[in-house]
Order: sequence, then C-alpha cells, then structure tokens
Amino acid sequence: VLEQRIGELEKQKKHFPEVKFLSYKDRKRILITGGAGFVGSHLVDRLMIEGHEVTVADNFFTGRKRNVEHWFGHENFELLNHDVVNPLYIEVDEIFHLASPASPKNYMYNPIKTIKTNTMGTINMLGLAKRVRAKMLMASTSEVYGDPEVHPQTEDYWGHVNPIGPRACYDEGKRVAETICYAYAKQDHVKVRVARIFNTFGPRMHMNDGRVVSNFIIQALQGDPITLYGDGMQTRSFQYVSDLVSGLIALMNSNYSQPVNIGNPDEHTIKDFAVIINQLVGNNSKIEMRPAMQDDPKRRKPDISRAKKYLSWEPKVGMLDGINRTVEYFRNELKRRRHDERN
Ligand code: NAD
Ligand code: UDP
Ligand code: UDP
Repeated sequence: VLEQRIGELEKQKKHFPEVKFLSYKDRKRILITGGAGFVGSHLVDRLMIEGHEVTVADNFFTGRKRNVEHWFGHENFELLNHDVVNPLYIEVDEIFHLASPASPKNYMYNPIKTIKTNTMGTINMLGLAKRVRAKMLMASTSEVYGDPEVHPQTEDYWGHVNPIGPRACYDEGKRVAETICYAYAKQDHVKVRVARIFNTFGPRMHMNDGRVVSNFIIQALQGDPITLYGDGMQTRSFQYVSDLVSGLIALMNSNYSQPVNIGNPDEHTIKDFAVIINQLVGNNSKIEMRPAMQDDPKRRKPDISRAKKYLSWEPKVGMLDGINRTVEYFRNELKRRRHDERN
C-alpha cells in the first residue's frame, strides 16, 4: 500500500507540475463528500498531495474504499462511513460536496434516494458550512440544462428539463440543490461555489455504471459489440478528470460565487466516439444500434468563457490522450477481475 501511495504521488507530480506544496499555516481542513467515488478520489489525491487535512464522508453507494486506500494510515487523512442525508458535526474550513450518484443507471436505481441525497444532503452540508463558517462548493451538473435549446450552454441559460421524466430525480435534484446554495448564501451568508460539471471520464470510473465511456471501452477491449443508443447523432463533450479537479480547486479558491461551467468544449457525436474508441483499442468490434434512451439530451457542449475569465482555467488534456490513459486503466481492471474470478 505504501508503494502504491508513493507511486500515486510520483504519478501526480508528473501530471501536475503546477501542484504547490503548502507551508503549515496554509493547510486547510477539507471535507469531501462522495470522496470515495470517481471524481472525489482524484480530488482527494490532489489535496492530500498539496498537504491539506482531508476528511472523506461517503456511504459507498457507488464509491469504493479501494479508490482512497492508498491514503489509509496517513495522519492527514480520515474516511467516514457517512450518509449525507444524516447531519454531520465536524470542524472544517472547506467542503467539496460531491456526494450523489452520477450515472443515469445509478441515479435511476433509487430515484427517491437520489432526491434525498441532493436536497437533504445539500441542506445538511450547508447547515454545517453555516455553523463552522466554511466555504462550500456544490458539484452541480450540465444536466441542469436538460435537453438544451441553447448551444453551446452558457451559465445564464435556464435549461429545458422534464420535471417528471426518468432523469428528473437527478436533474431537478441538482437544480434545487443550486437553489438551496443560493438561499443559504443570501439568508445566512454562507460562501458558496457552484460548479456545473460536464461529462467527465478517466481512471476509477466504475466498470458497470453504464456510462458511455466505460461501456464503449470495455466492450471494445473485450471485442464485444459496441452499444449505440438511438442514431448516435446526439453529442457530448468529454473532459478528462485531472482537468476537472484543477477547475474545482480553482473555483473553490476564487472569489466568484455564481455558477461556473467546468467542461471540455471538444464536442463529438456518440457515433464518432464509438468509432474513435474502436480504432484506438483495435479489436474491430461491431457497432450495434439499440433503442434511444428516453429524454436523452441531443446536444451538449459547455461555453467556458466564464471559467476562463474568472478562474483562468481551461482544460489541458486532449481527448485521445485521456482515452488512452483510461483504456490502460480498464485493461488492468479487466485483468484484475479475471484474476479474482480464477482465485
Ligand atoms: P461517483 O458515483 O463515482 O461518486 C459519487 C460518490 O458519492 C460515491 O462515492 C458515492 O458512494 C457517494 N454517495 C452517493 N450518495 C451518497 C450519500 N447519500 N451519502 C454519502 N455519499 C454518497 O460519481 P462521480 O462521477 O465521481 O460524481 C461526483 C459528483 O460530480 C456528483 O455529485 C455528480 O453529480 C457530479 N458530476 C459528475 C459528472 C461526471 O461526468 N462524472 C458530471 C456532472 C456532475
Ligand atoms: N447540520 C449538520 N451539521 C452542522 C450543522 C447543521 O449536519 O454542523 C444540519 C442540521 O441537522 C440541519 C441542517 O444542517 O438539519 C440545516 O441546518 P440549519 O442550521 O440551516 O437549519 P436548522 O438546524 O435551523 O433546521
Ligand atoms: N450511450 C450509448 N451507449 C451506451 C451508453 C450511453 O450510446 O452504451 C449514449 C447515451 O444515450 C447518451 C450518451 O451516450 O446519449 C452519454 O451517455 P452517459 O450515460 O455517459 O451520460 P449522460 O447521458 O448523462 O451525458
């Protein structure tokens, strides 16, 4: 485990030459809800490497201890098995509130729990922020724009969401979570930051969460048919996870309190995306058409002028580079799974 931790440190230093190491007085106590998940665990790595004290609160619905186990036993790290629907009394300076299932398959599995997590969970974290005067960053989503009529999506667009469709538990959950943030900011003077995160991918995505990146890569690696929902002409813009982590930290550290899109504007049709992954993996899978998902947004691309202007942030990792790193991760995961099945 120690070797893995050192390996992780070296890897991070290589990828993020800009990481600054802190003096003791600049060290903050940071809570990351959902920190055992895909995005959260990468944020843990970055903040731990910078030298902060990091507490993760996670109920392990979609997260895994394995994502953060390389920090177990480190004096600056603590992992709480905690559901954010319940109150949490600790002392912190900053809260990154990421707890929520994120893939359609997972958030539709228990829509009521998704709503509770995004409403009651967000109220609890804002109640905590208010009591200890912490700053809170809410992980919102491009899904607040629904099936958008404005393209690319700017933050002042109000969105086009079906309030009773299958995606509503998540879309409306996040919309009201934003509303709650600004109510606490106005009424109780809590410092809030709202990141509208666009489709993100990278190592530690779940193998089976049904998202397009994990599905296509695993199908391609196994030589199985690649499942294209609908005609494949719907678009998404994919950002690599290290760019998102930089954006979240820049937003938290900024003085900007309005919502900010964090995403990569490099837009592709899902059909092209299938072809690209198929070519990169090189197993020549066939591409199979499946019925379209209900209420599937047709186009999605962030306008990131606001992030550029107020955070001096923009994505750095190109899609092909990101996909190659992710393919490598899934190749190892599949190997690990085969090994586990044999033993
Ligand atoms: P993830 O499923 O890997 O991580 C979510 C984490 O939250 C998991 O560890 C899960 O166990 C935990 N969690 C869920 N409900 C909880 C609860 N009630 N109490 C405590 N912990 C709980 O997903 P992710 O991709 O890492 O997403 C992280 C955040 O970013 C989410 O809020 C998501 O809505 C947002 N986001 C992600 C994307 C993306 O493309 N990955 C896009 C937009 C927004
Ligand atoms: N809360 C929490 N940790 C704290 C402070 C509050 O989890 O340190 C929860 C608390 O249970 C409450 C919610 O946050 O339900 C909202 O708190 P607030 O103070 O806004 O509301 P009130 O307690 O007045 O209902
Ligand atoms: N998609 C697909 N095949 C899959 C999984 C997803 O064609 O096996 C499509 C899906 O219909 C959507 C896009 O890929 O148009 C992105 O889906 P994902 O679930 O990754 O994210 P979201 O819809 O939340 O952007």
